[in-house]
Amino acid sequence: MSEPPKNLKITEPSADGNKSGRRNAENSLPAPIFQTATFTFDSTADLAAFHDGESEGYFYTRYGNPTLAAAESRLSRLEGAEASLLYASGMAAVSSVFWALLGPGARLILLGETYRHTRDFAESLLSRYKVDVEILPENTIDALEKANEGPVRVLFAEIPSNPTMRVPELERLAEWARNRGAKLVVDSTIASPVLLRPLEHGADLVVHSATKFLGGHNDLLAGAVSGSRPFIDALVEQQAMLGAVISPHTAFLLERGMKTLGVRVERQSETALRLAEFLREQKQIKCVHYPGLESHPDHKTARKIMRAFGGLLSFELNGGPDAADRLVDSLRIPVLAAGFGGTESQAEHHPRMAYADLGLEGAQARGVVPGLIRYSVGLENFEALRDDLVEGLRIID
Ligand code: PLP
Repeated sequence: MSEPPKNLKITEPSADGNKSGRRNAENSLPAPIFQTATFTFDSTADLAAFHDGESEGYFYTRYGNPTLAAAESRLSRLEGAEASLLYASGMAAVSSVFWALLGPGARLILLGETYRHTRDFAESLLSRYKVDVEILPENTIDALEKANEGPVRVLFAEIPSNPTMRVPELERLAEWARNRGAKLVVDSTIASPVLLRPLEHGADLVVHSATKFLGGHNDLLAGAVSGSRPFIDALVEQQAMLGAVISPHTAFLLERGMKTLGVRVERQSETALRLAEFLREQKQIKCVHYPGLESHPDHKTARKIMRAFGGLLSFELNGGPDAADRLVDSLRIPVLAAGFGGTESQAEHHPRMAYADLGLEGAQARGVVPGLIRYSVGLENFEALRDDLVEGLRIID
């Protein structure tokens, strides 16, 4: 049996009440929802003072809003970042970082497998703007070291990667990027800052689909970028032009979700590890992709850089795609729905969910094995999820 998650010390964010010296409006304990598009000024002189930087405040929600600021500051504390900026979705965050850093002739390297639409965005839109996009065959430092010579503007890595949970040696990626004058951008949606804080390992920027673990309840769509204050300030200006802002109500839900991030991810990681260990012993299972298992190619690195191994796993069945379809339909607890990281478990035959337009062969051409099941572990108890899998595997046997 693999060892249990080590040193899972949760940085439980304190409430934004007056203990920390910050006071919310009317001493409200939660950060209130400023459900407004715009902010008023008392006079032209007041407006001029604001524009001249002589008084602080808010102007128009596309440029900022106190509810957004409360969620951004909680995320910065979790990530150990100078600053963060929220977006309307994870894709808005990823694409905005690419727009900010890349231009005609610049080279972007995607380290192996990534979320499908990150790759699609790079291959279709960025290529149209003459960005030189290179997708490496594997999420490893070795693949990177074999990449073509020449300047690189951005190295983008998903850690852990979707869907086989690869965990490359982050510090070596950072060193490689520094030596090439590239920015290292890490999408650490699957880990969340509870398990991995990429900036501490040398990444320049962290991006999240906050729709997943950060929000945690499948009731919001959001994205986030964390990094240095000057870079985030530049993104704020860009966001005012591109406009993919998060709404105040969504930011409130996200802020509330992040308060329980630590306990949720701790529980999900513990259950996922036990499920992965259970699954790997079953005769119907060909292999399990979970960095908490010693059999995972990146187990050692994951142990080094992650506090535990997360709530997402994937596995392949000996019976192939037909067995995968039947298992997904036989399971009674996990819902069949896109996404992951919520309180309810979700299970999908991954290529059918995420590559339906390309079919199983098209997905395979993208490196996604037919029959791969992706399982997002929710907050249900381990025994119930295991018994459900026992029954599902019995049905397909
Ligand atoms: N990054 C990763 C790793 C994802 O899994 C996803 C979505 O599944 C995204 C980015 C995009 O996020 P969103 O769906 O919030 O736009």
